[in-house]
Amino acid sequence: CGIVGILGKAPVAEQLVDSLKRLEYRGYDSAGVATLEGDHLERRRAEGKLKNLEKRLDAEPLKGHTGIGHTRWATHGKPTENNAHPHATDRVAVVHNGIIENFRELREALEKKGTVFKTETDTEIVLHLVDSFLQKGIKPVEAVRAALSELRGAFALGFIFAGDDDLMIGARNGPPLAIGHGDGEMYLGSDAIALGPFTDTISYLEDGDWAVLTRKGATIYDKTNAIVHRDAVKHSAST
Ligand code: GLU
Repeated sequence: CGIVGILGKAPVAEQLVDSLKRLEYRGYDSAGVATLEGDHLERRRAEGKLKNLEKRLDAEPLKGHTGIGHTRWATHGKPTENNAHPHATDRVAVVHNGIIENFRELREALEKKGTVFKTETDTEIVLHLVDSFLQKGIKPVEAVRAALSELRGAFALGFIFAGDDDLMIGARNGPPLAIGHGDGEMYLGSDAIALGPFTDTISYLEDGDWAVLTRKGATIYDKTNAIVHRDAVKHSAST
C-alpha cells in the first residue's frame, strides 16, 4: 500500500502511476488516482493490478497538474473499485494508508446529521469530516487541522482540493510519509523510493506532523500545530 501526490507543471497522472509501481513491493489489491481537472476533482480507480488502472486512464485520460494516487491494502471494506481510494466529494479528495480506529463513532455522528456514506472504508470518515468543515466555509488548511484533531489510529493521508490548484496537504501518524522538493514542483510520497523519479531531496515527516504544500515549498506543523523544521536530506538516487 502506498501514497503519492504531485503538484506539477504538466499532466501528472502518468507520473502518479509510475510512482505507485515503485511502491508495488508493499503489496496492494486495488489502486486509484485523482487529479484536479480545471476546478473540479476527477478520479480513476480499479481493482487489482496497476495495469487495470492504466487501462482506465488510457480510455479516459486525466490532464490535471495536481494529483494524488494510492495503492490499497484493504483493512475495512472489500477490495472493490468503489472502496478504492482516492475518496472524494465535490470539494476534496483523500488517500489514506493505515486504520482510523474511531471511525464508527465519528461516522455515526455525521450520519445523524445527514451525511451519506458511499463506501465500507474507515477512510471515508476522514473525507466527510474535512468536507463538513469545508461546507461551513472553513478554508482547507483549517478544515484538515480540525479533522485531524478528531482522528485516532494510524494514518498517512494526502489531500487535494477542488478550486485550489496549488495546494496539497499531507499528514502522518504511524505509517511513513515523505515530502519531495522539486524545482517549482512539490511531492508527497510513502517513501523516497516512490519519489525517486522526481527528486532526491526529501523531508521525512515525524509522527503527528502534517504539512501544507504549494509549488513554492512546504510548511510543516507538529502535533501541537506549531510550525517545525524538518531537514531536507539528499537521498542517494535509487532507480
Ligand atoms: N484502511 C484503509 C482501507 O481499508 C486504508 C488501507 C491501506 O492502508 O491501504 O481502505
